[in-house]
Amino acid sequence: MNEQLDISYIINELGEDREHYFNAIAPPIIQTSNFAFRKVEDLRKAFEDEMGGYLYSRGLNPTVDILRKKLAALDGAEDCLAFNNGAAAIFAAVLANVKSGDHIISVRNPYTWAQRTFDDILQRFGIITTYIDGSEIKNFEAALQPATSFIYLESPNSWTLELQPIKEVAAFARANNIITLMDNSYCTPLYQKPIEMGIDLSMQTATKYIGGHSDTLGGVLSGSHQMIKRIFDTEYLAVGSGIQPFNAWLLIRGLRTLPMRLERISNTSREVINFLKTHPRIDKVIFPFDEGFPQYALAKEQMSGACGLFTITLKNGTMESITKFCESLKHFMMAVSWGGHESLIIPKCASIQPNDFDATKIEHQYIRIYTGLEDPEYLIRDLKNALEA
Ligand SMILES: *Cc1c(COP(=O)(O)O)cnc(C)c1O
Repeated sequence: MNEQLDISYIINELGEDREHYFNAIAPPIIQTSNFAFRKVEDLRKAFEDEMGGYLYSRGLNPTVDILRKKLAALDGAEDCLAFNNGAAAIFAAVLANVKSGDHIISVRNPYTWAQRTFDDILQRFGIITTYIDGSEIKNFEAALQPATSFIYLESPNSWTLELQPIKEVAAFARANNIITLMDNSYCTPLYQKPIEMGIDLSMQTATKYIGGHSDTLGGVLSGSHQMIKRIFDTEYLAVGSGIQPFNAWLLIRGLRTLPMRLERISNTSREVINFLKTHPRIDKVIFPFDEGFPQYALAKEQMSGACGLFTITLKNGTMESITKFCESLKHFMMAVSWGGHESLIIPKCASIQPNDFDATKIEHQYIRIYTGLEDPEYLIRDLKNALEA
């Protein structure tokens, strides 16, 4: 195996020129805004191509570059950019690839701030988005318009866990000259490789599994060097949404333990799901690697793992019973986000006004669970007590 592709090499060595910083094991945080030049000619070169060297930390920064090299290698991509958060990565990638009059095809219920970008911002510039059920290629074909220039994917989606047939969508997009972006936050590049499957741009929030400790935000966008450079030269520098050196350093630290955390979380979620599936108060457990999942075969084909995030419903769930269950948990904390050390729960009904809650709508009943790094028995005991409260 090529050493460059060995995950242990990527995480522990790639991008780290330790002889340049006293052979320190941990990389330095190069906390500087600007970089000095001795020669006018060198400064001229930096102005001409800011991606060619260090000029100003809104562009490139050496600490951030260590992270970029590792993340690009994990994605199997030529290059990547690290953003201050995942939403910023989505925004830059979409904006750089659409123009007035274009049409976007997006999976239905994408990440909230992707949807807000499409509906509240791009629409003002005459860019229209069609939301589709992305589970079948025929739905992409049916949504195609002459102006379609961009396809937005999220597989699995973080609430309904719906998947898209990635290879088929990528081939369809290539044949029609459409750029594809996939939000790969659920799997991370350890468990799914969109670029290898033909996707142009792979995005993930690094706030979740990469950081892993709920103490920083970050976002990653990977793709060909040409596409990444174009985004760097325009949206990345203009919006100024790149990651700061200290946050990049935290993400490098998070990466060191990423494989073992994902493995631990995968095992825990399996145990917790097995418990929930046999509990009389649970109606549904929605998880891509559960045999009853409608797209189980596709999940097994395109994902090498499924981790800590899944959705459940209670039998005869009402606003009251869902609220009581969530509030009875002592160790699962009620909070947004996921991917950290701590287990979390969030009920869909928290984003629905009490009078609008409709028990006949399955999506109103969703309760999203994330299992962190705690002992499985500890978590199961907490769920059991809350279900029986
Ligand atoms: C959290 C999240 C994002 C956004 O990432 P931030 O770092 O919070 O901006 C994007 N996609 C998915 C699926 C997420 O869960």
